[in-house]
Amino acid sequence: MDRRAPVGIRFEAVTKLYGAVAALDCVSLEVAPGEFLTLLGPSGSGKTTLLMVLAGFTRPTSGRIVVGGEDVTRTPPHRRDFGVVFQSYALFPHMTVAQNVAYPLRMRGRPRAEMARRVAEALALVRLEGFGDRRPDQLSGGQKQRVALARAIVFEPRVLLMDEPLSALDKKLREAMQIEIRQLHERLGITTIYVTHDQREALTLSDRVAVIDGGRIRQLDPPRLLYEEPRSRFVAEFVGESTILPVERRNGALFCAGRPLRTTRPLPPGEPLHLVLRPERVRLATSPPAEPVNTLAGTLEDLVFQGESLLAEIRLEAGELLAVRLPTGAELSDSIRRGGTVWAWFAPEDAVLVSETG
Ligand code: ADP
Ligand code: MG
Repeated sequence: MDRRAPVGIRFEAVTKLYGAVAALDCVSLEVAPGEFLTLLGPSGSGKTTLLMVLAGFTRPTSGRIVVGGEDVTRTPPHRRDFGVVFQSYALFPHMTVAQNVAYPLRMRGRPRAEMARRVAEALALVRLEGFGDRRPDQLSGGQKQRVALARAIVFEPRVLLMDEPLSALDKKLREAMQIEIRQLHERLGITTIYVTHDQREALTLSDRVAVIDGGRIRQLDPPRLLYEEPRSRFVAEFVGESTILPVERRNGALFCAGRPLRTTRPLPPGEPLHLVLRPERVRLATSPPAEPVNTLAGTLEDLVFQGESLLAEIRLEAGELLAVRLPTGAELSDSIRRGGTVWAWFAPEDAVLVSETG
């Protein structure tokens, strides 16, 4: 497929009000040319509204949208030249696969020979060669979604928008499609905005992830940074597994569960502070450590085999439940038993502190 130079996208203080509800609350966002950016947030957080406003199906209440240096805020959808994939495949049931994929080219009045060539290329890109004569009802869910993807890229859109495209598929197929979408993006380099409420999917696919809640972007970072340096309690809870514990500050020193807390991480502004512990960064011991720093004591409440790992649940003295993930092959002392006392320990570099809102 021919390549066009990728374009950047800029949201400038975009607000969308529905009555008293701000579906988008003064969103400013810059997407680099060729970037794969994911909007991640719970249901009702404004993800679809952001895509619809960008695609031109919804007019923002205020603010500006700039694509490739050009203000498109008032440009009608068909003139924006964006490919869109929805959760429901939205294929035309009475058309063949090839006719479905050719549709955007037909709308643009491209010559027949060019249409045939591009449809064949697009079907090859989504690994559906030989499926052109089938009808949508002769395809599996994953194949239908690949047809929808082929139809969205066949006219070489400037931007590709996808709204929860995999959420109707089962887990295995979803994970296979995630890898295909990533490879397709690597090959085509189209600036892409992808919407999901699935944090794993967001981490898997994206160059950067924008966590959105209540119509506001709460954090925008590459996947690893988002996971390792959440800037608020909301992001820490939403991205990855974690245990979040209250932190006290006394005379400038930090304490968690009454024990001294040491961190090499920056302290966030604001109070109250919370400690974020990722389950795979906590270690367990069956005897009290020599030093109380960064330790927590509790009772082993459950130990669950989950295939690649063991999940230990520890009821801390103050009542909270601490999750610890251990590799399945880890040597576990015989004395680690349900109902027994255990000590958890974490390194100062793994002690991530967040405030409520970041
Ligand atoms: P998400 O895609 O993250 O689930 P949406 O963008 O669909 O969220 O919705 C964001 C908020 O805007 C929600 O509170 C939703 O109820 C509201 N909303 C979205 N579309 C409309 C609409 N057409 N009319 C009224 N309210 C809407
Ligand atoms: Mg939505």
